[in-house]
Amino acid sequence: MKVGFIGLGRMGGHMCSNVIKAGFETYVSDLVPALVEQKVAEGAIGCKDNLEVAANMDIGFTMLPNGAIVEAVMCGPKGVLSHCKPGTIIVDMSSVAPGTTQKMAKIAAEHGVKYMDAPVSGGTIGAQKGTLAIMVGGDRDAFDKMHDVFAAMGTNIRYQGGAGCGQHTKMANQIAISGCVAAVCEAIAYAKRCGLDPQDMFDAISTGAAGSWQLTNNGQKIINGDYAPGFYVKHFIKDMNIALDEAQARDLDLTVLHMVRDKYDELAAQGGADEGTQALIKVIDK
Ligand code: NAD
Repeated sequence: MKVGFIGLGRMGGHMCSNVIKAGFETYVSDLVPALVEQKVAEGAIGCKDNLEVAANMDIGFTMLPNGAIVEAVMCGPKGVLSHCKPGTIIVDMSSVAPGTTQKMAKIAAEHGVKYMDAPVSGGTIGAQKGTLAIMVGGDRDAFDKMHDVFAAMGTNIRYQGGAGCGQHTKMANQIAISGCVAAVCEAIAYAKRCGLDPQDMFDAISTGAAGSWQLTNNGQKIINGDYAPGFYVKHFIKDMNIALDEAQARDLDLTVLHMVRDKYDELAAQGGADEGTQALIKVIDK
């Protein structure tokens, strides 16, 4: 089975490395040539563009910033869908609106291509370790054929239903994170105002009922003053806006999500869009 991998950034780079390590013949592309060269050094076959990947692959993965870019990569005469063989399976692992996935799946079907959504959770750490949660939507038979290649990237691989159901699951994940990351920031801001040592407070509470991935990973980064992106603020805002739109379409008011999105908008407006999501502390502890 020949695998394609398009988008070798913070997440895709690690995920692709794990696919290569698992022994798959892997064709790669990215807009940044240095990222392609890194994967070639690990054993991948570097391609001059996405279309060369498309022409070679049996299964293709994309890990791209947002839905507009996914659509641009897939569609039109210069799109991946026009250049892959009928019978190819494309798996978009980016986080995008469920409607984008459904639209791509329809167009893909016209080309005889199966299109799946498989967004992930677990951050760059999970991507590196190959321990991601992978939330899959699309054709069940195609999912059943893909176990080995998904297992190279993740340990919790779950089929969620038809096209877009993986993305809906990812949005539920982002809703759950939003309140959690904001509460971690508030706990640290509070500890500092009370004159506590934030590290001592962190060590005391992180193994109790307040323990969470957000506290362990982002809480520690805040205390260390490390705002470098694992997960970009701009990508989190994109996801929260998708979740708010989907909720609104179903007459569901997600009050906490609204408040957290507004705080992140404030952070982005003051120049924080390219920082990691832990930088939220800057608008909470000001
Ligand atoms: P990133 O910006 O680091 O990587 C995206 C890559 O896509 C870049 O290397 C970019 O050059 C490449 N790219 C853009 N346009 C392209 C094109 N037309 N053709 C080929 N390559 C192109 O982003 P990331 O953090 O890896 O996130 C990717 C996706 O995964 C986003 O949808 C994000 O929301 C989601 N996600 C990120 C994390 C995280 O912790 N970083 C976790 C889960 C999900």
